[in-house]
Amino acid sequence: MKNELTGWSSVAVHSGNIQDPNYAHLTPIYATSTFVFDNAEQGMERFGSLDKENIYTRWGNPSFKVCEQKIAALEAFGLKNEDGTALELKALLHASGQAAMSTLFFSNLVSGDAILSHQSLYGGSYELMTKILAGVGIEIIIEDLSDLSILESVFRKHPNIKLVHLETPANPTIRCVDIEHITRVAKAYGALVSVDNTFATPYLQQPFKYGVDFVFHSTTKFLNGHGTAIGGILIGKNIHFMKTKAWKWYALLGGNGNPFDAYLLNQGLKTLELRMEKHCENGAAVAEYLNSHIKVDHVNYIGLPSHPDFLLAKKQMRHPGPMLSFELKGGLEAGKKFIDRLEMCTRAVSLGTVDTLVSHPASMTHVGVPKEERLKYGITDGLIRMSVGIENIKDILNDIEQAIDA
Ligand SMILES: *Cc1c(COP(=O)(O)O)cnc(C)c1O
Repeated sequence: MKNELTGWSSVAVHSGNIQDPNYAHLTPIYATSTFVFDNAEQGMERFGSLDKENIYTRWGNPSFKVCEQKIAALEAFGLKNEDGTALELKALLHASGQAAMSTLFFSNLVSGDAILSHQSLYGGSYELMTKILAGVGIEIIIEDLSDLSILESVFRKHPNIKLVHLETPANPTIRCVDIEHITRVAKAYGALVSVDNTFATPYLQQPFKYGVDFVFHSTTKFLNGHGTAIGGILIGKNIHFMKTKAWKWYALLGGNGNPFDAYLLNQGLKTLELRMEKHCENGAAVAEYLNSHIKVDHVNYIGLPSHPDFLLAKKQMRHPGPMLSFELKGGLEAGKKFIDRLEMCTRAVSLGTVDTLVSHPASMTHVGVPKEERLKYGITDGLIRMSVGIENIKDILNDIEQAIDA
């Protein structure tokens, strides 16, 4: 192309598309387990190549490839290497976020290594570390990484830290950690850095800008955007590592997705910018409404100056986004009544769908976290989490108003 694409939607719509040999406009659903070789020579060539394309769907599939290329292009959009060339990334699409995270952890860590992470992680990430990784001899170090003054001493105390895994913003108190600062220190101690960018999406935050090694998404959320499929993606800047070691774990652990879910993800990705703009506009309006409501005790939203990470979010994110949590003055009882009385908003866990989703972390997503633990992180009994959707704002506010005031 003579002109480089200059906008998010152009990249989301056009990058990664593969011309179908039958000239289908959209990338077809390549529902096939295996691929045909014209002759033995061709088969040998495909097996011998680093890309391992068109061999067997557990190893890769054209329907996956479109999504992988699109998401890699979005995460790299506008970013340059130190020498001024465009940043190139390689992604692997998995059956779920958890499958992609398994590839991330197992392709980088062996027994005796340590992983450093922080409080208030997605429940599945925390459990994968403490229940699976710990069981195979990987040391799990959880520290309060919002306190940057402790960082150096943590690395000095644990020279075996191989990977630092960050999640920002994080569930459900929307706390953030400083990607740039932590990455700089981690690099000085020879550690790799991965960022769970699920809540932000590349549109709101591009961790590769700060030199991280891997970005992870549960594509189930905003990237798919419509709640039609589970999926996960691991994106890396070491292309060779992604095509060899990460790919090996992906293929051998059997973490591949399926062509139909990939097709759904590919359709969703094209409207990422449009959806995020609306999600964000609505999220800010809902946060403002709740924050000034007499019956609301407090609101956790990184766009409010009262949030401890207001300035940090401003530094590393394009917009505070559509995720928030809040507590009513009546605590748990008032919260339950509020949830029950909602008429339009959807009562469900997960996030990032076009409809507004409302959940109760203490009894749902964080039911596995001991009460003393979750209270420490601000996950109180009455806390309500909202993933604000793209409905017309008046209808969202009307629903919230009638549910609070009824
Ligand atoms: C949902 C989610 C995951 C796990 O992804 P699945 O697609 O459910 O396997 C990991 N991290 C975050 C932040 C999530 O929201």
